[in-house]
Amino acid sequence: MKPPEPTRILVVEDEEAIAQGLLFNLERKGHTVELASDGRTALERIRGGRYDLILLDVRLPEMDGFEVCQRLRSEGNVTPVLILTARSQPDDVIYGLKLGADDYVVKPFDLAELLARVEGLLRRHAWSRQEGEDTAAAGPALHAGAPPSPTADGTSRHSFGAYWVDLETYEAQTRRGIVQLSHKELAVMRLFLHRPHQVVTRRELLAEVWGLPRHPNTRVVDNVIVALRQAFEEDSAHPRHILSVRGVGYRFVP
Ligand code: CA
Repeated sequence: MKPPEPTRILVVEDEEAIAQGLLFNLERKGHTVELASDGRTALERIRGGRYDLILLDVRLPEMDGFEVCQRLRSEGNVTPVLILTARSQPDDVIYGLKLGADDYVVKPFDLAELLARVEGLLRRHAWSRQEGEDTAAAGPALHAGAPPSPTADGTSRHSFGAYWVDLETYEAQTRRGIVQLSHKELAVMRLFLHRPHQVVTRRELLAEVWGLPRHPNTRVVDNVIVALRQAFEEDSAHPRHILSVRGVGYRFVP
């Protein structure tokens, strides 16, 4: 396994005390942290530099966090985004995840929980970055982290039924033509392609894709499965590829 590289985190938060608290605690964990206090500045920073993770408050001056997230995803930027939402605005979570955020933490947040989510997202991002590099290296990346065996023609495109997914470009042939999958959609498909015909539990998906093995809320998984079925199933109610295993999880049939 490679030695850990320094990670760059952009914290986008307009409340100075929270921003400084996050800066302090993330730097203590060994991360390199930059701050932005409004959405417009954040977007400029993200466009101009490479980050491993973005902590994004949704209620921001200039441009809110939703718009920041939507814009960067529409530009093809797949940097993991952890949104910070207010307890009083529960719909923000669903909206944020729809716009391409990878996970969320509700304010006022528990610091230990937030740091755990950060580490989870960074782990997931690290293996997605290693995609395409030498995959023969042994190590702990045995689960979702290990890409599936190369395809017959040596490309990163994996076919099943009438469809395919390209694990390098995030492109996929879907019912609606070729589209770009989201970071999470691709991560779930990578896991499915790696383990055809096997049961993949919701808990495994939460652990491997979201880095949240003990997260009580599996809604984030359900949302991605719904999107994938819309992409790859002619009849989502009677799926042929992404089957439900009642009360447990899913089974992918190529
Ligand atoms: Ca705010």
